[in-house]
Amino acid sequence: MPAIDYLRISLIDRCNFQCQYCMPEGADLQYLPQAEWLTRAELRQLLQEVFMPLGFSNFRLTGGEPLVRSEVVDIVRDIATLPGVTDLALTTNAFLLSGLAQNLWDAGLRRLNISLDSLDPAIFDRIVGGRGKSRWPQVWEGIQAAHRVGFSPLKLNVVVIPGVNDHEVLDLAALTLDRTWHVRFIEFMPIGNDSLFEQKGWVDSATLRDRIRQRWGLNAGTVRGNGPADVFQIPGAKGTVGFISQMSECFCDRCNRMRLSADGWLRPCLLNETGQLDLKTALRQGISTAEIKHQVAMLLAEKPEINYKMRQSGTSGAYQRTMSQIGG
Ligand code: SAM
Ligand code: SF4
Repeated sequence: MPAIDYLRISLIDRCNFQCQYCMPEGADLQYLPQAEWLTRAELRQLLQEVFMPLGFSNFRLTGGEPLVRSEVVDIVRDIATLPGVTDLALTTNAFLLSGLAQNLWDAGLRRLNISLDSLDPAIFDRIVGGRGKSRWPQVWEGIQAAHRVGFSPLKLNVVVIPGVNDHEVLDLAALTLDRTWHVRFIEFMPIGNDSLFEQKGWVDSATLRDRIRQRWGLNAGTVRGNGPADVFQIPGAKGTVGFISQMSECFCDRCNRMRLSADGWLRPCLLNETGQLDLKTALRQGISTAEIKHQVAMLLAEKPEINYKMRQSGTSGAYQRTMSQIGG
């Protein structure tokens, strides 16, 4: 088992998009009241007094859409300036990025993952929802702004859905030919989106890899990060292509992460709720951070067993909560 040193922190469960696969229409999306969010001070205290003493040094901010939280730049600065943080990254849909990229950089952020499921504005808009003016140009401008500011590695995440965007895989892979970007294809998961999943199904990484290999060839590649992606490079390309295969491959035995939801629930596994701890209530009830640390340490000790059980049961079931609610 790897050391568990990576915490994914959801800053908010709300989002300015409503992606078909993440917040499907009709899903029971009851947003948390703001009073339930971990405050900036609570988050910093938990990292400083609980997680970092237990060996966590890598953090990712996510959501919902983390850039929707108005304090996001301050939260980045709070974490980036904690002694002992070795990596801080953020996952975003990039809609608000062009106005924030420089501020995030100045606050100490160096790594960004951006979701970009399509290069076709009409398809993109159908995936992310909303009416009126296309959202694609503003997202593309956000990606360009991040590139100009110097974010590196800049990773683009693509959830591949048959009949929706799978025909764009080669075009998306081609972005890496003359850019230092890293395009990662993610297998579509049945999380809170049963009917779309049943209707569309999913496509496995091996199939996508073969399509790219047949077009250009593929070499092994590398890219910095904490992720479970298998990384390749098209010969002569500046960037890389990666595959995140949580449906076709089980990587529970390589899992080095825990998740903290916007309302302070610590979750040892994306796909089941075993052993969750309510850290916000503990803090607000005045329980000492020494005691909270002890409880988190016990949960950490249980994680290999939780991972083992997941490995035995497989990951092909459907899960009721959406990624935006869990903290993707
Ligand atoms: N709003 C940000 C974004 O979209 O990048 C961060 C949160 S989002 C929940 C984090 C990641 O989860 C995104 O890359 C998104 O594509 C992915 N995701 C959401 N639902 C998914 C699903 N059902 N299957 C696979 N990936 C999913
Ligand atoms: Fe929002 Fe990200 Fe979920 Fe899309 S994937 S609805 S952008 S949280």
